[in-house]
Amino acid sequence: MSPAEAPLLYIGGWGRSGSTLLECLLAELDDVVVLGEVVHLWERGLRHNERCACGQPFHACPFWSEVGERAFGGWSRVDPDRLAWLRHEVDRQRRIPQTGRLRPTPRTVALTQEYADHYRRIYDAARTITGATIVVDSSKEIPTALALSHDPVIDLRVLHIVRDSRGVAYSWSKTVTRPESTTAEPMQRYGPATSTAFWLSGNLTVKALAHRGVPLVRMRYEDLVDAPQDSVASAWRALGLPGAPRLPMLDEHTVDLHPTHSVAGNPMRFRTGRTTLAADTSWRESLPVRDRRLVTAMSYPVLRKWGYLDARTKEPA
Ligand SMILES: [Zn+2]
Repeated sequence: MSPAEAPLLYIGGWGRSGSTLLECLLAELDDVVVLGEVVHLWERGLRHNERCACGQPFHACPFWSEVGERAFGGWSRVDPDRLAWLRHEVDRQRRIPQTGRLRPTPRTVALTQEYADHYRRIYDAARTITGATIVVDSSKEIPTALALSHDPVIDLRVLHIVRDSRGVAYSWSKTVTRPESTTAEPMQRYGPATSTAFWLSGNLTVKALAHRGVPLVRMRYEDLVDAPQDSVASAWRALGLPGAPRLPMLDEHTVDLHPTHSVAGNPMRFRTGRTTLAADTSWRESLPVRDRRLVTAMSYPVLRKWGYLDARTKEPA
């Protein structure tokens, strides 16, 4: 299979929805290489030399050094300022009216293709180095996936991971440190209304991908941790991905995680060793009632559509 015929599995969705856990699980599959949130490579890796999940700073990581060499003839030949400008022009929520069109303007076509070409070179290099068939980019951002959908060669398939908006809101309210950063600043925090506004816009814009004909499947974080093997196998089938994935589960909910070269994302990507999957439901006890009511009211139609308000999971409003 040539690189041009190998699929790119893109994990899309809003932050704190389990995308890093999903990436860690997919990394254990044969024929799969996970790259982390490639959208942040240009700033956090290339410019700021933050740590790869293997523990090395980006520019000292042997994997990423080889990727840079094969993809561009060395990272010094990539201009992070140009990437930042391209991202501003074609990879922002407010650009979706342009990048989500079936017949975009010539300018949008030219800029998205220049932008996506940088990603495609990275995917192809990662495939060549590892021998993997499927590359996983867990960038999450829907505008990034839309920009990639303009590349004529990338075989884009999107796995949209979603999580109960109340669990997401509680997660964004907590302080989380960033072990990969040298300045030790914590991750961004949001209040419940802001988190839920972003949850809505970040999740609902996937419709633009469907509009452009990109294969798209939704997975609930809660189902993934409840039945990881079945959830992954079902997504694989629905996306028409090659092979039958078999997670190396020790029992239904336990797995050994190994180091990866995930370039950016949630600190969970540094986790290795024996891991028991269990849904983080601390929001049920710890999210203040007033906040829970606000989040439920704001996201009610979507929560209902995605089965978060059925008899089994119904929460007192
Ligand atoms: Zn590394």
